[in-house]
Amino acid sequence: MSVHHRGIGMTSARTRDRLVSRLREAGIRNASVLEAIRQIPRHLFVDEALAHRAYEDTALPIGFNQTISQPYTVARMTELLLEQGARRILEVGTGSGYQTAVLCSLAHEVYSVERIDPLLKSARRCLQEIGLRNYRLHHSDGSLGWPEYAPYDAIIVTAAAAELPHALLNQLVPGGTLVAPVGTSDRQELIRVRLTPEGIEQEKLEMANFVPLVHGASH
Ligand code: SAH
Repeated sequence: MSVHHRGIGMTSARTRDRLVSRLREAGIRNASVLEAIRQIPRHLFVDEALAHRAYEDTALPIGFNQTISQPYTVARMTELLLEQGARRILEVGTGSGYQTAVLCSLAHEVYSVERIDPLLKSARRCLQEIGLRNYRLHHSDGSLGWPEYAPYDAIIVTAAAAELPHALLNQLVPGGTLVAPVGTSDRQELIRVRLTPEGIEQEKLEMANFVPLVHGASH
């Protein structure tokens, strides 16, 4: 992977190493995921005023009442998503574009949809700035997926729905994996769904804390 970006001093490299150690301690095992997190400059995906907190393991506001996900959550979901190997991935909820960048560095093609257009535009600028090219972004209601490029090997949803959006399952290949938070604003679980020859296999994994999945695209 080659990621180009504004100059990052030694301090910042050390800070990122510290974040990676923290994620390892928190249970992230996949070495490629940890390396992607070490490489992607998360500070470019947040407002300059928050850049000094970008390598803390915490969610941060990105405007429009949305957040850039906590690095642990990004790492964990990516690890779960890629366990079976995935070339083409759909992401619902581009937000800052940070999770998109991590996925781009690990998968062949990433398709990502976002309902808030200014967030999508800013994510596009960030992804361009760091020199990634294997993504397509789209302004739409991602609870409907992105049928045009379906089916996907894996689907990641980065906002919580009360129930699993079934439209998305129809856009998975047989054997494909979907990872999503499901539940209400105060109680959500991360679930993984696999389409096996025997049917839909669903695992509940751990508690999660995401902004809600909202229907309809905003302008
Ligand atoms: N992966 C992002 C997470 C951002 S928060 C990051 O780490 O930055 C979740 C995002 O999902 C928000 O930007 C929100 O606007 C978006 N979202 C919520 N409902 C959506 C929907 N129905 N379709 C597409 N995006 C949606």
